[in-house]
Amino acid sequence: MLFSRFATPSLGYANAYSFNDPSGMCPVCQGIGKTITLDVEKAVNHELSLNEGAILLPGFTVGSWYWKLHAETGLFDPYKKIKEYTPEEYPLLMYAEAQKITTAETGDMNVTYEGIVTRFMRTTIHTEKDTSKRTAKVMEEFTVMQACPTCKGKRYNAEVLASTIDNYTIYDVTLVQLTELIEILKKIDNESRHPIIVGIQKRVQDLIDIGLGYMDLCRETNSLSGGESQRVKMVKQLASSLTNMIYTFDEPSTGLHPRDVYRPV
Ligand SMILES: [Zn+2]
Repeated sequence: MLFSRFATPSLGYANAYSFNDPSGMCPVCQGIGKTITLDVEKAVNHELSLNEGAILLPGFTVGSWYWKLHAETGLFDPYKKIKEYTPEEYPLLMYAEAQKITTAETGDMNVTYEGIVTRFMRTTIHTEKDTSKRTAKVMEEFTVMQACPTCKGKRYNAEVLASTIDNYTIYDVTLVQLTELIEILKKIDNESRHPIIVGIQKRVQDLIDIGLGYMDLCRETNSLSGGESQRVKMVKQLASSLTNMIYTFDEPSTGLHPRDVYRPV
């Protein structure tokens, strides 16, 4: 809400600033911040040549069709160890986009060649087909989770990350501790006392007052400890506009550092 109102260039509604919404999420990882990719170290033994069975992925055993596509099409020297491939050869082996090649080895037939990683991503990961048990096992064995290369794990798309308040993106703001966030909010507010900022400031200050100043907004709700989530709920309740309510808290100081026990009072 803060960003949809104050950030420039503005992207409009608050939804546009959510990594759970198609308009705000990174298109590559769909807002997850991580992508699954082939673990090259596991898929290829760089110490071996193609003839020695360097490609460890299923379907690439020496003599198989996919193996021939790499080893017998004249693109590579099948006796050369992978670690000795040139800066031109290695990307061709691993990452080449699908391309038609004609070689004598395949009887002058037109065949489609594509890099090992490219093929794996297309057939195993970016596929609509239901994952079979076999594929699931291959996935488990040969893939790694890594920070999304496009958003660098930030989960938002480029437009959201370009929209800032005082040079802070929404991602930056979720990373800082609440004690720092309150300072940023004061700077943004710049004495204007805008109701939206004042409201957010109040919430953040409540969380700090109750001893949660060390937290950031990145924390996922399920990663909160029992005591932390209880305090977050407390702040939410106390900030609601209901009046004349008597709250009964059962051990509200559970999980609090002895130093902070007095804070909820
Ligand atoms: Zn991403």
